[in-house]
Amino acid sequence: MTRQIHIGGVLMGGGAPVTVQTMTNTDTRNVAATLAQIRAAAEAGADIVRVSVYDEACARAVRQLVDGSPVPLVADIHFDYRLAIQAVENGIAKVRINPGNIGGEANVRKLADCLKAHGDVPVRIGVNSGSLEKDILARYGGVTAQGMVESGLNHARMLEQAGFRDIAISYKATNVPTMVAACRLAAEQSDLPQHIGVTESGTARTGMVKSAVGIGTLLMEGIGDTIRVSLSGDPVQEVAAGLEILRAAGLRKDYVEIISCPTCGRTCIDVEGIAEKVRLATRQVRRPLKVAVMGCVVNGPGEAREADIGIAGGKDGGALFVRGQAPRAVRGDLAEILIDEIRRRFLAE
Ligand code: SF4
Repeated sequence: MTRQIHIGGVLMGGGAPVTVQTMTNTDTRNVAATLAQIRAAAEAGADIVRVSVYDEACARAVRQLVDGSPVPLVADIHFDYRLAIQAVENGIAKVRINPGNIGGEANVRKLADCLKAHGDVPVRIGVNSGSLEKDILARYGGVTAQGMVESGLNHARMLEQAGFRDIAISYKATNVPTMVAACRLAAEQSDLPQHIGVTESGTARTGMVKSAVGIGTLLMEGIGDTIRVSLSGDPVQEVAAGLEILRAAGLRKDYVEIISCPTCGRTCIDVEGIAEKVRLATRQVRRPLKVAVMGCVVNGPGEAREADIGIAGGKDGGALFVRGQAPRAVRGDLAEILIDEIRRRFLAE
């Protein structure tokens, strides 16, 4: 079991539910644009949002961002511990900074004292395959899982020696097997809660597949306390992808799961179109519900019966299955019929 930390009101580690994070890509100094993106990400289901804090103007903007954000915010800081202190004083819920890069023990102590004084604001140490220390790269002959974990634990030790233990850690690599190996090794060697993700994974299509493989593999082994899918593009799509990964791993059940057949020569209805319409109509629902959209009455009824509600296509319409009831023949706009039945029977209260 990993140690537990709190990021504002959100728990991480120690058996707490795995959360979804994303990061804004607006200029943090533009408070209106950044807040709009934070709210959109939160609306899409983000539990935590990170913002870049790269200068004093960003650190000052943190106050307004924190005041206007519906979810806890993390300040992403490189090298300048004074920006971290300023962000903490302005109410940030977590800081991402590597203590080994902030200019020595005295600065680490100043940062640790500030974090403690503000109610143990946690730190995430972010180990990235692209910026491993030169001595570690030389010792291991390049980027390795062992080298990444050694780097992370070195950083963590510096904070712990300054009396600070509210630490999370991430081991990100563009190479999925390396990232998975590092996170597994880290889980064996320490109890630090892990933020997991594949870094610079690309644009939506390849990035989602790489992230699903890397993050999904670890989640299925019980490793990972919060996740971020890194995609070149809109943070909202990162959140959507993160939620899908948690759902596929069985870690989020409060949603409408749509089971639809792959279609074949027997298909009698527009399975893809109906399934997509139902998905869009129910994507905000936060309760477990299983809906089946099956293309024919040969193999469809089995799955449709297993779901809470389902439809199996026939020559002139379809058969509607509601759990525990005899199937009923339906005709017309099958997507609308299904959506109406879902609303009436399961979402009316
Ligand atoms: S449910 Fe029917 S239409 Fe769909 S793939 Fe199976 S056999 Fe084909």
